[in-house]
Amino acid sequence: MKALVAVKRVLDANVKAQVKADGSGVNIAGVKMSMNPFDEIAVEEAVRLKEKGVVTEVIAVSCGVAQCQETLRSAMAIGADRGVLVQTDDELQPLAVAKILKALVDREQPGLILLGKQAIDDDCNQTGQMLAALLEVPQATFASKIEIADGRATVTREVDGGLETVSLGLPAVITTDLRLNEPRYATLPNIMKAKKKPLATMTPADLGVDVAPRLKTLTVAEPPKRGAGIKVPDVSTLIDKLKNEAKVI
Ligand code: AMP
Repeated sequence: MKALVAVKRVLDANVKAQVKADGSGVNIAGVKMSMNPFDEIAVEEAVRLKEKGVVTEVIAVSCGVAQCQETLRSAMAIGADRGVLVQTDDELQPLAVAKILKALVDREQPGLILLGKQAIDDDCNQTGQMLAALLEVPQATFASKIEIADGRATVTREVDGGLETVSLGLPAVITTDLRLNEPRYATLPNIMKAKKKPLATMTPADLGVDVAPRLKTLTVAEPPKRGAGIKVPDVSTLIDKLKNEAKVI
C-alpha cells in the first residue's frame, strides 16, 4: 500500500511574521521557510508505517513555488521514497490544493493519504476535509494515533474534552495532530541520500486543475498592540479597576 503525504512550505514556526506595509499579506521575502510542522508529523507517521511493513512506498507532494523542492528533500530525508512538486507561482488556496492532490491520488492510487491538520501560515484547516470530499473517501481529522489492519484504519482523534476513536475503510484521508508522534531529526547521511531520491515536477495544468483563487484577501493586519501592565497595591484596587476601568466584572 502506498502512502501519499502532502507537505507545505511555510514560514518557519520560529520566525515572527511581519505584515507587508500595504496590508496585502505576510512578508516572506528573505525569511526562513520550513516544512509545515503538522506535515513533518505526517511524513514521520508514513515512514513509521513503512518501517512496520504496513506501507510499501511513501510519496511526498508539495504544491507551490520551485523552492518547495527543499521541502520535498526534507520529507525524503525523514524517509519518504520520492517527491512530486506541483509547481506554480500562483496563489494556492485549500480548494486548489485539494484538487491537485485529488488528481495525484487518482494517478498514484495510495491506500493512505496523510495531511497536516492545518498549515501554520493560513490556519485554514480545510485541505484534508476538501480532499476527502472530492475523493468521496472516509476522513479522520486531528489524529493522535493511527493503526492499520485488515484494510481499515483505526484512528484516535483529539476532540474537545477527550479522545474519539473511529474506524474507517481504506483508502482514507487522515490529518495529523501534534501528539501523533515526534518527528525524527534527519541525519546527515539521510539528507545526502535524499538528494538522490526521485523528484518529479509537473504543473497544475498537467493535472488538468484550475487553481484560480475563489477567495479574495481584503486585508491582513497585525493584532492590536497590548498596552503595558500596571501594579496595584491591593486586592480592593484590583477589583475596583476590573469593575470600573476594564469593565470585565
Ligand atoms: P490548510 O487547509 O491550508 O490548513 O492545510 C492543511 C494541510 O493541507 C497542510 O498541513 C498540508 O498537509 C496540506 N497542504 C495545504 N497546502 C499545501 C500545499 N501548497 N502543498 C502541499 N500540501 C499542502
